[in-house]
Amino acid sequence: MTTTETDPVEPCGESPDRKAGPRVEVLPARDVPLGGPRAMTVRRTLPQRTRTLIGAWCFVDHYGPDDVAESGGMDVAPHPHTGLQTASWLFSGEIEHRDSLGIHALVRPGELNLMTGGHGISHSEVSTPATTILHGVQLWVALPEQHRNTERDFQHHVPHPVPLNSGEARVFLGTLAGDTSPVPTFTPLLGAELTLRPHATTTLAVDPAFEHGLLVDRGDVRMAGTLLRPAELGYLAPGATTLTLTNTGDAPARMVLIGGPPFEERIVMWWNFIGRSGEEIIQARNDWEKGSRFGKVHGYDGARLPAPELPNIPLKPRGRVR
Ligand code: MN
Repeated sequence: MTTTETDPVEPCGESPDRKAGPRVEVLPARDVPLGGPRAMTVRRTLPQRTRTLIGAWCFVDHYGPDDVAESGGMDVAPHPHTGLQTASWLFSGEIEHRDSLGIHALVRPGELNLMTGGHGISHSEVSTPATTILHGVQLWVALPEQHRNTERDFQHHVPHPVPLNSGEARVFLGTLAGDTSPVPTFTPLLGAELTLRPHATTTLAVDPAFEHGLLVDRGDVRMAGTLLRPAELGYLAPGATTLTLTNTGDAPARMVLIGGPPFEERIVMWWNFIGRSGEEIIQARNDWEKGSRFGKVHGYDGARLPAPELPNIPLKPRGRVR
């Protein structure tokens, strides 16, 4: 995935709810057109003005269900990444991934595809002709200082569904409900798809060192007592040893739960790059524009994405909201 937002944070936003009681903060989604030959629009809940990161998770895009006969599907031309990992997770449809590591993979529902950009990678993402409904999420993970210039990598994992009290979990990163993903991470992370039957409640043991985010795909779900609507992201601060989720509706609910210990480094996010300073971002942009560092994507039918213009104002590091 790429972004057309060069500064991914909108200039307006509401202050987080700092009232006592359940510490769930509701982060609404905003619609962001991805641009390119097909005008796919995603619902973005992270980053936003009031919150840059949840653990090392720094980007949450949610899309569909889109009928590709109407939307045109996904066609993201080769574009670069640095300093981050991209995690692709589908509910429906199929995406063809090609990258400059030489990986050619199909992203399918219930299968994690985790691409590590490290110092620099480029990739393309195109929904396949077999896709009728495209529906899923793309999540980015900020790499910590020690590993942010690591080698390019690509990991694939198909988690087995784990039964919950009244639903199922698919743990694609980290540990939840007795299941642990074998995919290594550079900071402790949790990533899981959860489903809950109508009017069901489940209580999950969670790591109290983690902060958590719950993206609701479908259904109305209470997260630690706070109601979340579809496309909203609930945020729960560290300290909880359990997390109780309730599907308040008459239909099955589906969610994506993310988490990790607070990421204490300040980062600069611009376009598809994560760095620590504006100078690093400018260097990454120059490297992409002159065709170095990020390698070549073979097999994509079309031109690569040009980098957008840099803003006139300096790019500033952002960190956790205190
Ligand atoms: Mn991408």
